[in-house]
Amino acid sequence: SLAGKTAIVTGSTSGIGLAYAKALAAEGASVMINGFGKPDEIEAERRALAEASGAKAAYSDADMTKPDEIAAMVARCTEEMGSPDIAIANAGIQHVAKIEDFPIEKWDAIIAINLSSAWHLMRAVVPGMKEKGWGRIICTASAHSLVASPGKSAYVAAKHGIAGLVKTVALETAEQGVTVNAISPGYVWTPLVENQIPDTMKARGLTREQVMNDVLLAAQPTKQFVQPEEVAGLAVYLCGDAAAGITGANLSMDGGWTAQ
Ligand code: NAD
Repeated sequence: SLAGKTAIVTGSTSGIGLAYAKALAAEGASVMINGFGKPDEIEAERRALAEASGAKAAYSDADMTKPDEIAAMVARCTEEMGSPDIAIANAGIQHVAKIEDFPIEKWDAIIAINLSSAWHLMRAVVPGMKEKGWGRIICTASAHSLVASPGKSAYVAAKHGIAGLVKTVALETAEQGVTVNAISPGYVWTPLVENQIPDTMKARGLTREQVMNDVLLAAQPTKQFVQPEEVAGLAVYLCGDAAAGITGANLSMDGGWTAQ
C-alpha cells in the first residue's frame, strides 16, 4: 500500500500518465496530476482520484516547457499534500518529420517537455526525498531511449537523454533510500500514438492500416499494443519496498521490440 505517500505525475491528464495516477491512487497515495485538457474533465478525474485513494488529489496546470512553473508545482504539492515521495516524469509530445524538414520550434518543445522537464522535476523533488531517506523517481522513457526510428530525431534524442539522466541521479541518491528508474514502453495505445498516424502516413506515403501493422506493430514482435494499465502496474511495483534494489535501471515493456 502507498497510503500516506504523496505522488506527483507530470502529463497525467491523458494516456499513460492518467493510468499512473489511477494506479497510485488505488494504492492509497495522494496524487497531484498535471497536463492540459478540458477543465471539467480534469476536475472529474481529480475527484475520482480522491475518491479512489481516500486521500487528497490535486491538479496543477504547470507547463512543462517552463522551469519556474515546474518548481512552483512541486512547491504547491509540498504545501498542500506534503513533499513528493513519488515523482513520475511522464509528460511527452511527438513530432515526426525528416531532420531537414523538422521545425526548429518542435525540436525545442520536444527537448523541453520530454527531457528538460524531467531534470527540473528531479531537481525540485530530490532534496525532500533525501531528507526523508525515501523516494521513488520514475521517468517514462521509451523503446526510443534504446533504439531509433526515422523521422523522430528530437524524440529519440530526448529519450536517450532520459536514460542518461536516470542513471546519473540514481548514483547521486543511491545511499539515501531513493531509487530512480526509467520505464521504456514500446507502442502503447494512447492519443499520442493515434495522433502520429497521419504524420507517419505523410512522411512515408502509407495508408492508416499500413502504418498500424507495417510500421508501429512491425517493431513489436507480440503484435499487440502495450496497455497504459500495464505500464502503471510496473510503476506501482517500482514504488514498493520489494523494488528498493532497482535503481538506475531502464526497464523495457515493449513486446520484445528491443530484443531484436
Ligand atoms: P498522451 O498524449 O496521451 O499524454 C501526454 C500528456 O502530457 C497529456 O496529459 C498532456 O496534456 C501532457 N502534456 C503535453 N505537453 C505538456 C506540457 N507542455 N506541459 C504539461 N503537460 C503536457 O501521451 P502518452 O502516450 O500517454 O505519453 C506519455 C509518455 O509516455 C510520454 O513521455 C511518451 O513519450 C511516453 N511513451 C509513450 C508511448 C506510446 O506508445 N504511447 C511509448 C513510449 C513512451
